[in-house]
Amino acid sequence: MEEIKNYIDGDWQTSSAEEHLDVTNPATGETLGRVPLSTPGEVDQAAQAAATAFVDWRRTPAVERVQYLFKLKNLLEANFEELSRTITLENGKTLGESRGELRRAIENVEVALGIPTLMQGYISEDIAHGIDEFMIRQPIGVGAAICPFNFPVMIPFWFMPYALACGNTYVVKPSEKVPFTMVKVFELLEEVGFPKGVVNMVNGSKDTVEAILEHPTIRAISFVGSTPVAKHVYAQAAANGKRAQVQGGAKNPIIVMPDADLDMSTRIVADSAFGNAGQRCLAASLAITVGQSSNGFAEAIAAAAAKRVIGSGLDEGVEMGPVITPDSKARIQSLIQEGESEGAKVLVDGRDPKVEGYEKGNFIGPTVLDGVPKEGELFKTEIFGPVLGLMHVDTIEDAIELVNTGNYGNMASLFTSSGAAARQFRYEAEVGNIGINIGVAAPMAFFPFSGWRDSFFGTLHGQGRDAVEFYTQEKVVVERWPKEWTRKF
Ligand code: NAD
Repeated sequence: MEEIKNYIDGDWQTSSAEEHLDVTNPATGETLGRVPLSTPGEVDQAAQAAATAFVDWRRTPAVERVQYLFKLKNLLEANFEELSRTITLENGKTLGESRGELRRAIENVEVALGIPTLMQGYISEDIAHGIDEFMIRQPIGVGAAICPFNFPVMIPFWFMPYALACGNTYVVKPSEKVPFTMVKVFELLEEVGFPKGVVNMVNGSKDTVEAILEHPTIRAISFVGSTPVAKHVYAQAAANGKRAQVQGGAKNPIIVMPDADLDMSTRIVADSAFGNAGQRCLAASLAITVGQSSNGFAEAIAAAAAKRVIGSGLDEGVEMGPVITPDSKARIQSLIQEGESEGAKVLVDGRDPKVEGYEKGNFIGPTVLDGVPKEGELFKTEIFGPVLGLMHVDTIEDAIELVNTGNYGNMASLFTSSGAAARQFRYEAEVGNIGINIGVAAPMAFFPFSGWRDSFFGTLHGQGRDAVEFYTQEKVVVERWPKEWTRKF
């Protein structure tokens, strides 16, 4: 069985870990390999290698550093199909979804290529007579990314290209559920020819994360995962004096106004709720109809859910793959049950679908529950599966109040043909990513991937200028060079 290796100081190393976890194909239950739960000693080796490499890497001019990223972009393009297939094999999403994810990852490399401009500072002459002041951005040192399972390639790329372009060196801890994709990416990073120690990968789970958080050499942490773990990571990073950008879970509401285009909203909301089998931090999980929009929307979305084709993500024509593990499937089934017990009506029940030829896969079909109570679990708990709860209110004010009631603040969307409603919603929703007639309001690489309240802890987000600020520290210089000191030769 293939054992995942670590990549430390330019070498592929078999971990000395005593514990390993199986990595499985969620569509078939087949074991793909095993991943080591790497030791604190291995985290230390990676951090030390990165610290040593930092000395020269930060002195490499930005225009030279980006040449490595140009090569990486070309290699990612050349290996596009193989990488997409690997994502589908270990994560379960459809091949089309994997391609979309990889495209988003590459876009982050493209934005980071602008680093010679993006990391420029600024200057003021004569802040006092003959005195100038300027700000320069310098890299921090060693950074680390701790990643979730749902986007095996895109999420590390929200951070790593910017960190490297800014002159930092790096350690990636992929999700233990989907480590193969990053192995392929690191093979490409090796082919690019980054100096050894500049990029490192250490596999593992909780204990490996603790070792990263405690390591004194690692100065910056980028984390994406569930909110309970996010809170812990943020607290530990702060306790150990590290800067941290920490993205948590989500519960994303979509409001459908009476003047929304019913066909368009139904199609887009269905894609948002059931795409990636609902395992997207921007997936719609509540649809709130306002006034007369309840007429027809519940029926239309139920019909769209019922006809979605589920199966293995590698098969042609499949629109939705499995969820990641049998545990995930059981958790989602029990939340649907709980919603039903709390009074919601199950319009489409995907608890136990039959997928011919894939009896051992972790499949959950699209599920729609109508009349989700505000006090219930389905309203407040992140399901992270293809389950959409429906609620109904009379006014947009009531709908916005619901949006602002939950703990999360990752994304909310409004479907309407009224600019005034759109503005009111955009202005008042306490949420980091807003969609207007958009189902998955995923920021492009040149915008920050936002998130508020329990969906984000920190100040600077991933992607774009935020990532550049996060992976640099500002140095402010005040200089006096009296004219009288000018040498006469
Ligand atoms: P997770 O929290 O289980 O794991 C995330 C990472 O933390 C993994 O690398 C894992 O090894 C590590 N980890 C797990 N338990 C830990 C612990 N107790 N202590 C220290 N480290 C630990 O998340 P997941 O299931 O892989 O991913 C799904 C979650 O990620 C969902 O909640 C989803 O909303 C969230 N997510 C958020 C965003 C966003 O942009 N806000 C994006 C993608 C995913």
